Amino acid sequence: MESSLEQLALVKQKIGAAEQETNRPVGAVTLVAVSKTFDAEHIRPVIEAGQRVFGENRVQEAQGKWPQLKAEFPDIELHLIGPLQSNKAKEAVALFDVIETVDRDKIAAELAREIERQGRATRLYVQVNTGSEEQKAGIGPREAVAFVKHCREIHGLAIEGLMCIPPVDENPGPHFALLAKLAREAGVEKLSMGMSGDYELAVAFGATSVRVGSAIFGSR
Ligand SMILES: *Cc1c(COP(=O)(O)O)cnc(C)c1O
Repeated sequence: MESSLEQLALVKQKIGAAEQETNRPVGAVTLVAVSKTFDAEHIRPVIEAGQRVFGENRVQEAQGKWPQLKAEFPDIELHLIGPLQSNKAKEAVALFDVIETVDRDKIAAELAREIERQGRATRLYVQVNTGSEEQKAGIGPREAVAFVKHCREIHGLAIEGLMCIPPVDENPGPHFALLAKLAREAGVEKLSMGMSGDYELAVAFGATSVRVGSAIFGSR
């Protein structure tokens, strides 16, 4: 736990250095601390150290720890970064402040309905499968711009960003560049890209948020 606070400080320092080196404004990049598989006892000290933005990849797991933590710390911002099943849209909208994994019409429709019904201001990103990997979630890069438009025009959703998870065995740079290009074409401002192994590179490619888990909390 001591070490997760040291690691948090180090990651923040490296993000700051990467912002400076690449002429990004200080504070341009938000750190999303990915706390999946870690329980509330591990997360609480990190919150107490000042971290407010967290990411989880499973709705059910997040439901087990975050309602209590959010009650204690009302300014927490929780991001869903894992695939969303349409039968979990209700729970996801109730708990998460940002859903980064909108990737198909059915999910967009369910989210639009739940956001309206619950009167929530859930912020949404479209996940792009930049490597066109068969097993990976996300809309294909060739469909991404049209899908953002579809979400806006057909479902009335304000898509504010794009998110990607590059293939593990490839240089992530071209994937980050592709995501940035698609965001410009789609007219969205936020770019969620970069994880423990490549977040500094992602900052150089214009990430507005990086999702860092193991570099803070340790290996899972
Ligand atoms: C787990 C996860 C991360 C964090 O990965 P680390 O390599 O531990 O930093 C980031 N993004 C997504 C979508 C994840 O599932």
